[in-house]
Amino acid sequence: MARINTIIQRSRTLTGRLVMGGLIIHLFLIPLLFAGIATIVKEGYQERFIDQVRSDANYFSTLLARHTDLQEVQSYLDEALLEGRLIFARVINEGRTIVDGMRFDAREMSFIEDFFFGQHEDQVYYIALPIDGAAALSAATVQLGYDESPIHEQIDSTYRNGLLLAFAYTLASMLFGTLMGSQVTRPLRRLRDAAREIASGAATKQLDVSTKISEVESLAANLESMRAELVRSNDAIASREMYTRDIMNSVIEGILTVNQDGYIEALNPAVENIFGFPEQELLGKSLDTLITPTFWKSRLGALIQSGEHEQTTLALQQGKFVETTGRRKNGGLFPLEVSVGALSIQHGGHCIAVIRDITERKKAEDEIKALHQDLERRVIQRTQELAAANERLKYQALHDALTDLPNRVLLEDRLQQAIQTAQRDNKSLALMILDLNNFKEINDTLGHQVGDLLLQRVALRLLGSLRESDTISRTGGDEFALLLPGVAKAEDSRHAALKLIAEMEEDFILEEQSFHVGISIGIALYPQHGTDGPTLMRHADVAMYVSKRTKSGYSVYDPSCDDHSVSKLALMGELRHAIGCDELVLYYQPKIDLATGKICELEALARWQHQHRGLLTPDSFIHLAEQKRLIHPLTRWAINEALQQCHAYRQANIEISVAVNLSTHSLRDIYLSEQISELLELYELPAKNLVLEITESAAMSDPPHTIEILGHLHEMGVRLAIDDFGTGYSSLSYLKQLPVDEIKIDKSFILDMVENNEDLVIVRSTIDLAHNMGRTVTAEGVETREALDKLVELGCDMVQGYYIAPPMPGEEFEPWLRHHNESFIPG
Ligand code: C2E
Ligand code: CA
Ligand code: CA
Repeated sequence: MARINTIIQRSRTLTGRLVMGGLIIHLFLIPLLFAGIATIVKEGYQERFIDQVRSDANYFSTLLARHTDLQEVQSYLDEALLEGRLIFARVINEGRTIVDGMRFDAREMSFIEDFFFGQHEDQVYYIALPIDGAAALSAATVQLGYDESPIHEQIDSTYRNGLLLAFAYTLASMLFGTLMGSQVTRPLRRLRDAAREIASGAATKQLDVSTKISEVESLAANLESMRAELVRSNDAIASREMYTRDIMNSVIEGILTVNQDGYIEALNPAVENIFGFPEQELLGKSLDTLITPTFWKSRLGALIQSGEHEQTTLALQQGKFVETTGRRKNGGLFPLEVSVGALSIQHGGHCIAVIRDITERKKAEDEIKALHQDLERRVIQRTQELAAANERLKYQALHDALTDLPNRVLLEDRLQQAIQTAQRDNKSLALMILDLNNFKEINDTLGHQVGDLLLQRVALRLLGSLRESDTISRTGGDEFALLLPGVAKAEDSRHAALKLIAEMEEDFILEEQSFHVGISIGIALYPQHGTDGPTLMRHADVAMYVSKRTKSGYSVYDPSCDDHSVSKLALMGELRHAIGCDELVLYYQPKIDLATGKICELEALARWQHQHRGLLTPDSFIHLAEQKRLIHPLTRWAINEALQQCHAYRQANIEISVAVNLSTHSLRDIYLSEQISELLELYELPAKNLVLEITESAAMSDPPHTIEILGHLHEMGVRLAIDDFGTGYSSLSYLKQLPVDEIKIDKSFILDMVENNEDLVIVRSTIDLAHNMGRTVTAEGVETREALDKLVELGCDMVQGYYIAPPMPGEEFEPWLRHHNESFIPG
């Protein structure tokens, strides 16, 4: 059955039909054709035979008609029979045979005329014709018999040949058919199968079709190249797909596609990781499973349903991540971000959703938010604290810590403003400088604590006796300044001064002791005594010194009193300023070690580069500094400067010590040694590089105290020298107790030593004495070669003076030293 089916199936193919057609043609039509041809040939033969017979018979009949003699007829017939043309001949006249020319006489011939070829089985064609015209034979009929067998034989042979030809043709056709089958049909079938395989994408093997037919061959070649191309493009597609899949597998974002009804169609492994569902459980499920419906119904849903992906969503959503809530397999909800896009309509109008799990990020964001809030809170708190601190600092910068009164800075500012107001309103004002008369004693005898307490009490009293519009400020030490705006005349200011003096009349009780504190007031008025702050200050200062000197209590500024000495006093006001403003500089004067002839030490000597008065020497300001209690800052400044310079020299490979002068007051500075050690540390200098010079009188001022302080400095390793030795009245026994290393003979002895024998004696005995006590000796004020020679002779250790070098600025010393590197010892 199946075979039949295949046959039917195959018969419908082109080859099938060709085969069927061939079969039909060869089985039916070809035999018919041959039969037709045979019949026509046969008919042709017969017709020709009959035509020949008839014409022959006619000829006979005509010939016989000419014969009269029967004998002649007989011989004629016999002759014809002999020729073989005829096999039967007879002439019948009136039913009687008159001539009989039969060749096979045995046979009884019943003559029946044939009208068709092959009518009788004897294979003889009978024909009867009347013999016309001949007298002897009138009304006679000639009966003739012609032999049909040669024709029959010819027809048979034709049939035979035709059959043979048909057979040969069929055989040839079949051979051809077979050939065609092998060369065309089979290859075509193979090609068809191959085409099917190719179409199904299963064709991996190369086509193997052998044929000699060029069309089929080229078809096969085309199909093969098509197959190869297909295989190649399939491979390319497969690798592309693999590539895409790899990407999809490795992205952290979950990617899934959803069809128009919101059902999941495809997803990458990240989706499984994010939601905890295996892929199989998600495919075909609604997106509700993963994302809260509110989200996708409103956004994704709208997108899907609208069908107009391009226009609708994408404008709103594509590339933009929207936050929503996701649900994991365990039911847990978590924050996620979705970006929705539409695939093109060709891809079935699907949507693609890119999903990010933002749990960690949210957590971090929350933490950051909390941190931020905390930080913000702290910043606000800190800002407030800082603002408060700033306020405090501002306040402190403008107020005196001890009395809480405005300080000099604030006073100067208020003075400036008050001057401007007075100028504008055409009014006047008074500035008072007020100094306590015997504060120093109280401070020295009862200590700083009591001194401070006293200053606070004084401040309170002063405050109580002034108007609110007045400013009272503590400008330093025991000095106060009062700014009284609206004081019109000198008279008013005098009243105010008297009031203040009266206020101080009453004793202060401190630590169960009563003190009387007198005050000296200097008054300067705007605009009479000055139109700017500094002038008013200086003039009030001058007036205050006048009142102090005259013990008058108060004094209004009088230009006639502002002589040289008073202007000297005015310097005091400026000195404070000078220390802080780099107006002070140190000059250095070298000391020569006579044993080596080399420079061993520099003495630092202060100079004041005054704005108006030029370079001032220490004589004009040191004692002012002492009076104004500016000597501590000045000393500190000098030590710092000198050590800094020493450090700089050391950096430049100049190994040298520096000597700094100390005032009597410096020995009362309890912080001095501490500050010195800090500075030595700061400049990385050994203590022995610092020499402190104390005048003989200073060393003698407060013996036990001085011994203690000097002892402490000595322990630190700082070297000490007694300056201006010979001018004071040193007790030798006391001098012995002092831990000094060096004695500097005052220059007044050295200057005249060569001429003045007395001085020479003093110098010689001082050198001997010092050496006996184990101290080194320096001679200062060496101005001549003779003096130097003498000192060498006397065994002095070191010399200093103009002969060697005058004091010079620090930066000049270095080139000077390089220039004078040779020995100073006289040859
Ligand atoms: P002093 O300590 O006796 O310093 C020596 C003084 O003699 C210096 O005067 C110096 O210039 C001067 N001099 C040096 N060689 C010669 C010379 O060959 N002939 C003469 N006639 N004079 C010479 P200067 O610099 O005017 O210092 C004066 C005083 O001021 C110093 O006397 C010292 O006691 C004091 N002094 C200087 N600087 C400071 C300092 O920073 N602090 C303190 N407390 N006092 C200082
Ligand atoms: Ca000195
Ligand atoms: Ca001296």
